[in-house]
Amino acid sequence: MSENNLNQYDGGPMNGSSGNNRNNNNRNNGSGGPGGPGGNGDGPKRQNLLMLLIASLVTLLMMSWVMSKMTGATDLEISYNEFIEKLEAGEIESVQITDDRINIYPKKTTPKTPQDMIPRTYYTGRAEDDSTLTRRLLENDVEVAKEIPDNSGMLFSILLTYVLPLVLVWVLLSFLFRRMSGGGGPMGVGKSNAKVYVQKETGITFKDVAGEDEAKESLQEVVDFLHNPGKYSKIGAKLPKGALLVGPPGTGKTLLAKAVAGEAGVPFFSLAGSDFIELYVGVGASRVRDLFKEATKNAPCIIFIDEIDAIGRSRDSKYGGGNEEREQTLNQLLSEMDGFDTSKGILILGATNRPEILDKALLRPGRFDRRIIVDKPDLKGRVAILKVHSKDVLMDDSVDLDAIALATSGAVGSDLANMINEAAINAVKHGREYVCQKDLFEAVELVLVGKEKKDRIMSKEERRIVSYHEVGHALVSALQKNSEPVQKITIVPRTMGALGYVMHVPEEEKFLNTQAELHDMLVGLVGGRAAEELVFDTVTTGAANDIEKATNIARSMVTQYGMSRKFGLVGLETVESRYLDGRTVMNCSDVTAAEVDKEVMDILKEAYEEAKKLLSENREILDKIAAYLIEKETITGKEFMEIFRKEKGLPEPEEKEDNEGREEIPKEQEDAAEAALDNGAAEQ
Ligand code: ADP
Ligand code: ZN
Repeated sequence: MSENNLNQYDGGPMNGSSGNNRNNNNRNNGSGGPGGPGGNGDGPKRQNLLMLLIASLVTLLMMSWVMSKMTGATDLEISYNEFIEKLEAGEIESVQITDDRINIYPKKTTPKTPQDMIPRTYYTGRAEDDSTLTRRLLENDVEVAKEIPDNSGMLFSILLTYVLPLVLVWVLLSFLFRRMSGGGGPMGVGKSNAKVYVQKETGITFKDVAGEDEAKESLQEVVDFLHNPGKYSKIGAKLPKGALLVGPPGTGKTLLAKAVAGEAGVPFFSLAGSDFIELYVGVGASRVRDLFKEATKNAPCIIFIDEIDAIGRSRDSKYGGGNEEREQTLNQLLSEMDGFDTSKGILILGATNRPEILDKALLRPGRFDRRIIVDKPDLKGRVAILKVHSKDVLMDDSVDLDAIALATSGAVGSDLANMINEAAINAVKHGREYVCQKDLFEAVELVLVGKEKKDRIMSKEERRIVSYHEVGHALVSALQKNSEPVQKITIVPRTMGALGYVMHVPEEEKFLNTQAELHDMLVGLVGGRAAEELVFDTVTTGAANDIEKATNIARSMVTQYGMSRKFGLVGLETVESRYLDGRTVMNCSDVTAAEVDKEVMDILKEAYEEAKKLLSENREILDKIAAYLIEKETITGKEFMEIFRKEKGLPEPEEKEDNEGREEIPKEQEDAAEAALDNGAAEQ
C-alpha cells in the first residue's frame, strides 16, 4: 500500500492511494512522448515553395512598375483639347483608337533638341464624339486604326487578375489546412502523420530501461516473436496483437515501447491518441486506416499509441463518452486490429495511465489483451535508473546513489533523470568538474520542492511561527515510536510554496504501513498546527497542506484499510484512478458517507489532542530547538537529535552501520523531501 512512503509530514504522503498528487503534477513535462519532432518533416520544402511564390510575386510587381515607368517616359497623356489642337495644326500622323483611349502618333519632325530624338507618342481619353471625330480625322489626313486586341497581354492580365489570386488563396488555404490537420493538404486532411514519426532504429534497448524488470520480462517474449515470427507460426502460435503499458506518467512506458522495437530491430511507429482526434469527423478513422496501411508495408514493426485513453475511452457516458468522432476512430481501430494478420509481425503497444476508463471492447482477447504494469520504481529500481542516467555524467567519490534513491521514494524515472541532469548543471554552475553528492541532493530538492527563495524576507514574527511549526512536526515525530527519523528541518522558503519543511528519510523502503505508524503519522502531521496554538495561542493558514494530508490518511484508514472502530472491515471507497491522482469514489449510502466524515473528524481531533499534549509536556525542548532553528535556518536531523537527547537525558545511540553514510552528510548536503507546502495557503 505504500510504494511511496516519502518523508511524511511536510515531506509528503505515504499511502498509495491518496498521497502522490503533487508528485504527479509536475511530472508530465518530462515525457514529451512521440509525435513532436516528426510533425514538420516536409516543412523546409513547403517553406521553399512559399518563398518562391513570394519572390515571383515581387518580381512581377517590380516588372510592371518598371514597364509603366518606361512607357511613361515616351508616352504622354494630353487633354482632349490639346489633341484637337494638334489635329487642327496637322501635327498628327496617325491615331489608334482602343476601348478606353486614343493613342496619338505625331508626324516626324526634324529634331531640334536631344529630347526630340526619342520618339514620342501621346494618348488621351475617349470623349463621346466618336462620329464627328472620325470625320475630322479623315479630313485632316490622319491614319485611323482601331485596336487589334493583343491576346498575349490579355492572357497576362487574366492570369494576373484571376488566376494569381486564386492560386494565392489556394496556397494559403492549404497551408492553413496543413497546420490544422498536421498533414495532407486540403485534399488530404485525413492523411496520417504517423509516417512522419517513424524511427527505423530506435537505438534503445532494454538496457536503457532500468528497473521495471517484470515489464521487461513480459515484453521479452514479444521481442522474440518479432525477431523470429516463423518459429512461432510454425507451431501454430499467434503473436499477441496488442499489449497495454499501464502506469503513472514518467515511468518509462514510451521508453519501454522503443526498447521493444530496438531489441527486435524493427521500425517504431508512434502516435499519441490525441493525434487521432481532429476537428473533422472521420479524420481520426482515416488516420487509423493510414497508420495501419503504412505499418503493414513496413512489417514487422511496432505501432505505439501513447495516451490511448484519448481514443479508447469507454463509449458509455460515465466517462464522458458519446463523442461521434472518437467513437468512429475507436471503431476503426478495433476493426483494424481485428483485420491485420499477426504472422506479419505487427505489434501494437498502447500506453495509458487510466486503464479503468478504457472501453471493454479494446481490452478483449485479440486486441489489447495483455496488460503490462509499469509502476513507480522501488528503491532498487530507483538506484538502477539513477545509474543508467548517470552513466555519462562525471561524478566524484562522494556520490552515493543509494542515499539519493532512499530519499526519493515516490519519484518516477523521468524525475530521476531530471535530477541527475539538474545535478550536473549545478556542478557546472559551481565551477566544478565532477558532480558531488551535494549537487545531487540540491537537485533532488529542486525537483521536489522547487528552488530556495533566498530573497523572500519573512518578518521576524513569521519566522518564529514557521520555526515553531516545523519543530512541532519534528518533535512530535521524535517523541513517537513509529516515526521515521528526521533528516532535515528548514525554514528557508521554496518556490513551490513551502515556507519551511521537515524531511524524513526512512531507514529502509517500506511497502506496508502498520496502523500504529499511520497513527503516528497523523499526530506528526498535526504537530505543526499544535505547536502554533500552544506557543502563540493562535493558528495560521500554514497548516493547510498538513491538514489535507492528514485528512486523506484518516479517510483512507476508515474507508479502505478497515482501521476504524466504527466501521471495521468495510470497503467504503474504491480508488478510481490509481496511476494518476489516486482519486477515489465513495460506494456507500449518503448516510454512511456522513458517518464516515464524522469518524474522520474524530480521528483527526484525537490526533491533534495527542500532539498538543506531547508538545506541552516537552515545551522546553520545543522552545530550545525552535530558537536554534531561527538562528540557523536549516538544521540537520543529527543536530536536532543531539539537542533532543541532551534535553531528554537520553544516551547516545550506537551508530548503525548502514546509516552512517547518511548521517555524515554535512548540513547543506542534506537531502530533500517531497514538496512541503507548509503555509502554502498563505501564499495565495
Ligand atoms: P511515460 O511514457 O511512462 O510517461 P517516458 O517513457 O516518456 O514515460 O519517460 C520519460 C523519460 O524518463 C525517459 O525518456 C527516460 O529518460 C526517463 N525514464 C523513465 N523511466 C525510466 C526507466 N525505467 N529507466 C530509465 N529511464 C527512465
Ligand atoms: Zn506543517
